[in-house]
Amino acid sequence: MADNHYLLLRANLKQLKLPAMAAEFEKLAREAAAANEGYEQYLLRLTEVEVSARASNAVQARIRAADFPVVKDFDTFDFTAVPALSKPKVLELARGEWIEQRTNTCFIGSPGTGKTHLAIALGLAACRQGKRVEFWTAGALVTKLEAAQKQYQLDRLLAQLDRIDLLICDELGYLSFSRAGAELLFQVFADRYERRSLLVTSNLAFSDWGQIFQGERMTAALLDRLTHRCQIFEMNSESFRFRESMKNKKGKKSD
Ligand code: ADP
Ligand code: MG
Repeated sequence: MADNHYLLLRANLKQLKLPAMAAEFEKLAREAAAANEGYEQYLLRLTEVEVSARASNAVQARIRAADFPVVKDFDTFDFTAVPALSKPKVLELARGEWIEQRTNTCFIGSPGTGKTHLAIALGLAACRQGKRVEFWTAGALVTKLEAAQKQYQLDRLLAQLDRIDLLICDELGYLSFSRAGAELLFQVFADRYERRSLLVTSNLAFSDWGQIFQGERMTAALLDRLTHRCQIFEMNSESFRFRESMKNKKGKKSD
């Protein structure tokens, strides 16, 4: 192909917004010629490159939009550290069917037992499956809801949250909310009931949730909705963080 043809082709692909094809067409053409492939096969390969680049960009965009505090995946999670946790059950959740079925997941347990780690890993898995995910700490979500309400933007925020397939609400129980804040969070949870999935982590047993939601009636109503169709994992093992730091200290002593 003449040089100016390359230039024209590159310009056309750019105008058509096909950057992966623009980057790959020369190499793939050489390969197609060497393998004696037909035009259609070449075109197929070329379009596949663009399709897969777009899919991977879309996953990256969903992961960015999810706003995870850090990226943690299952490959770095040591299931043997939490013997009470069923690895097959957790990996089953990673397939994402529970989100399609609009059910919930709760990780309940003491600090440092890997609740946030698992919540992020499940969120990442959902992003890779094309689902919209948002990660919030309960405190940040309530603050955001309260601010939206003050600015008469609550409906807009609720509609935005409604579009999220999986809402992760981390660290419920570390902070207690004002009555108004608790009511707003209740509204988000109740709105999602049987329509969208929630993943909640908490250091508090359900019996203590009255402290967060102030008032037994609201707590009971909330728990009723949250736990109706819900996988609940209790993770009361020793703190992973604590165990790691003890290990390091012991390691240092024996040096
Ligand atoms: P929690 O949310 O329950 O307080 P985290 O998920 O934040 O705990 O875990 C605390 C730290 O320990 C994180 O860095 C996390 O990646 C790590 N961690 C916790 N449990 C495990 C585990 N079973 N395997 C690997 N890392 C773990
Ligand atoms: Mg946590």
